[in-house]
Amino acid sequence: MDNPQPIHENSETISTQSNSNSETLSSLQSTQVSLHSEITAEGKIILPLGSCSSTQRYCFICKSPNSRTRVPDKAIAQVWREKKIFIPRNNRCCHNHLNNDLFTEDAMQLIQIMRRRTLFSEVDLIKFIGFLTPLPTVFNSLSFGIASPLTSIDYANLTGLNKDDFNDLYSFCSGNIRNSSNRSARDALGIFLMKLRLNISQATLATMFRLDSQPMVSSIFDSVMNALTEKFVPTNLGYQHKSREDFIAQDQCRFAEILLKADPESSIVVADGTYLYIQKPSDCVLQRKTYSNHKCRNLVKPMMFVTTTGRIISADGPFFANNSNNDASILKDLIEKPESELMNLF
Ligand SMILES: [Zn+2]
Repeated sequence: MDNPQPIHENSETISTQSNSNSETLSSLQSTQVSLHSEITAEGKIILPLGSCSSTQRYCFICKSPNSRTRVPDKAIAQVWREKKIFIPRNNRCCHNHLNNDLFTEDAMQLIQIMRRRTLFSEVDLIKFIGFLTPLPTVFNSLSFGIASPLTSIDYANLTGLNKDDFNDLYSFCSGNIRNSSNRSARDALGIFLMKLRLNISQATLATMFRLDSQPMVSSIFDSVMNALTEKFVPTNLGYQHKSREDFIAQDQCRFAEILLKADPESSIVVADGTYLYIQKPSDCVLQRKTYSNHKCRNLVKPMMFVTTTGRIISADGPFFANNSNNDASILKDLIEKPESELMNLF
């Protein structure tokens, strides 16, 4: 069976409406709408749909002739869904562009439209339509993929970070979270941030992202937390991530200095205990230690240290919620601990 073949723009039988190479994908797609399909003498159809170069001799992404594999159907569907580019089914690519039969984030960025028109046989076409028609779902799942229609405002509403900030945070953990067949690494970060921002239940998140089960959401949280702990946290949280002088110069509000009549050389830090509500523990001792008479619920208390411009320096703890753990006693304990780095701020 013949496979879909990209049409070369200098083909004798095809006249394309090609413009410059610098056209964007969206302009290509809008061009496609105005183009017509054609039937060839052999009964094949040429459709005005973008495709990448057709090759079996080398990787169609990086042109390497070594260690090639046939592009999996799931990866072909992934590129069509996210970038509206056809990949001829006999194309080959390097193993390292794939992860669980899906293209990696880097590979997705390298895949570009090379041809504006693609030749399909009748059999190809029927197969492609069946292959590309999505299975019926209750609703389309959310996605934080690079081609997702979510706007920067949508990102902010869902995760608390606009799209640029999300991309920045993602750059810290992209290498440490793997794409899987169920969700991309970007989705994993988005799901984790949605939990923090909106406190949606894990079961609901599983439904929203079409994941199989709640435990899958738990394992996503583990992956993201490990990745952030390794790469992001050491340079952005804790007493060690900036010097005392940098905190004063960069993160100290002058208004606070005036208000407190403080020496500009001294550091001003806001310390406050806050709450993280938890489920009632089954262990009786833990139940007592985490029960807050003040809030009448079980909770743990992180002690937050924040600069006067709002930058979080450190979140110490968490501490239990019983009466012996009021803000004053927690602070006293932290100050008096010999190994505490808190006093390096002062
Ligand atoms: Zn390659």
